[in-house]
Amino acid sequence: MDMIRINMTERTTTREPMPEQYAHFGGRALTSRIIADLVPPSCHALGPHNKIVVANGLLAGTTAPNSGRISVGTKSPLTGGIKESNVGANAGLYLARLGIRALVFEGMPRQPGLWLLVVDANGARIEDASQYRGLGTYDTAEKLLAAYGQKASCLIIGPAGEQKMAASAIMATDMDGRPSRAAGRGGTGAVLGSKGIKAIVVPQAKGELPQYHDPETFKSIAREFSQKLIKEKEMLRVFGTAGMVKAANMVQGMPTRNYSLGSFDRADAINGQALHDTIKKRGGNVSRPCHTGCVISCSNIYVDEAGEYITSSLEYETMVMVGPNLDIGDLDSLARIDRALDDVGLDSIETGAAMGVAMEAGLLPWGDTDAVLSALDEVSSGTVLGKLVGSGAAVMGKVLGVRRVPQVKGQSMVAYDPRTFKGMGCAYATSPMGADHTAAPAIPGRPGLDPSKKFELTEKENQVELTRDLQIMITVCDSLGYCFFVGPDIENMRRSALLLTALTGRRTSYEDILDLGVSTLNIEKAFNRAAGIGPDQDRLPEHFYDEPLPPHNRTFDITPEETADLCYDLK
Ligand code: SF4
Repeated sequence: MDMIRINMTERTTTREPMPEQYAHFGGRALTSRIIADLVPPSCHALGPHNKIVVANGLLAGTTAPNSGRISVGTKSPLTGGIKESNVGANAGLYLARLGIRALVFEGMPRQPGLWLLVVDANGARIEDASQYRGLGTYDTAEKLLAAYGQKASCLIIGPAGEQKMAASAIMATDMDGRPSRAAGRGGTGAVLGSKGIKAIVVPQAKGELPQYHDPETFKSIAREFSQKLIKEKEMLRVFGTAGMVKAANMVQGMPTRNYSLGSFDRADAINGQALHDTIKKRGGNVSRPCHTGCVISCSNIYVDEAGEYITSSLEYETMVMVGPNLDIGDLDSLARIDRALDDVGLDSIETGAAMGVAMEAGLLPWGDTDAVLSALDEVSSGTVLGKLVGSGAAVMGKVLGVRRVPQVKGQSMVAYDPRTFKGMGCAYATSPMGADHTAAPAIPGRPGLDPSKKFELTEKENQVELTRDLQIMITVCDSLGYCFFVGPDIENMRRSALLLTALTGRRTSYEDILDLGVSTLNIEKAFNRAAGIGPDQDRLPEHFYDEPLPPHNRTFDITPEETADLCYDLK
């Protein structure tokens, strides 16, 4: 596989074989290695010394189910540390068919300007994109698909990324050509904007699929895995991730009114059943894949009463962060806000958290959908309020003097209150990425590497070990290109070793697979240390330790000493 270097200072592209030291890596393992090797940790995230790497996973283009995620790695303008954020998009598959593993953007334009990177069978080229300046991602996607084919896969920034706002996302077009999928976390859109790139366009590629070393074995394992996922993930297919609303509300762990409560009085109006029934009644779609090869199809298409498209996909994390967290409790409002966030190109999680802080400070009224939409309009027009909203929760808290800011290392928490979801709290505290639910999704029924170690959702026992194990296994998934929902578990790690062996012919053991996760996490941690993010930042904001969450009055009782300096090893 090759990589393409895109030098935005010289405006040149160079295709070259993947250097030997990176040849056996993909996804997050690759992006984090390139960033750690080639980016000075102390550099400015929006300056010429930062790079942004887009890489598909090791299983990209194969028949392994749900293996089409594409990773975006960089130094984050939000956290100041290393970042990997991944998204389901056919760009991963198309690049694999073209024999390309990674795109590496470097330098900065000498003069202000806006460009596209187009990658197809003829190579990679930089094209003028000035006609797309200031456009939302929806308008941009429509024009790009008209120009490059309706099956093209596009990674786009919106006005937020063009203005280099720290909460800006890279939006990817979905199977229907809508920019509804996000490499959302950590301000990746701002870094792409700093390179002057409005969009990466990969027209449909029909080239060679990867050459399997042992095709029969690979296909047999992949087939069995697909059947297993289809059978076991039925609830995700029917209710999507919104199925989590009811459960999180029941256990008093759903962030409400800026994390001051753990349950929401109108949760029934926005739970998985309500979402499913509303979509069905109106003629939307309750089950869509976000990329070719997904066999679970947890995404949905939400339409209004007239059957007109509003957004895709309404998902648990966004629904809660812009719903109960802002005291908003109706599906149409959540859908309108989600659409506006995708269009302006902001991370819906980070921005939901920032708005919650703004509401606590009285800058915006609680429960006011129109005020939220109006603030998002101001992001597009670049007013001071808009820039504040686009800067994330930590900056919002500092500017407004709010103590209750749900963030770690500058990145906001997600829709799981750590005082109830104790393992998730450990992940927030210790992940090199800052607070991130995908770093170690510690929910019931998900054991670590030692299944004999039991844990309860709301109890502290064994949670630190569980977090470490899940972080290792999730990092493996992120490196293979797997969607989060295939599951970070031992069986999947063993299966992945067999798949990689059958694909490449290089014998890959279960231990090798786990070491892929361990070594990547340690590289990320070392980068952060060099960037000034040390163990003293492996902790939650103090109010989570001392402010009880009603009505059970839980606190986060796993001390900073217990989570600080978590070691990534296999002991
Ligand atoms: S399960 Fe959901 S997130 Fe995962 S690949 Fe399928 S549609 Fe995308």
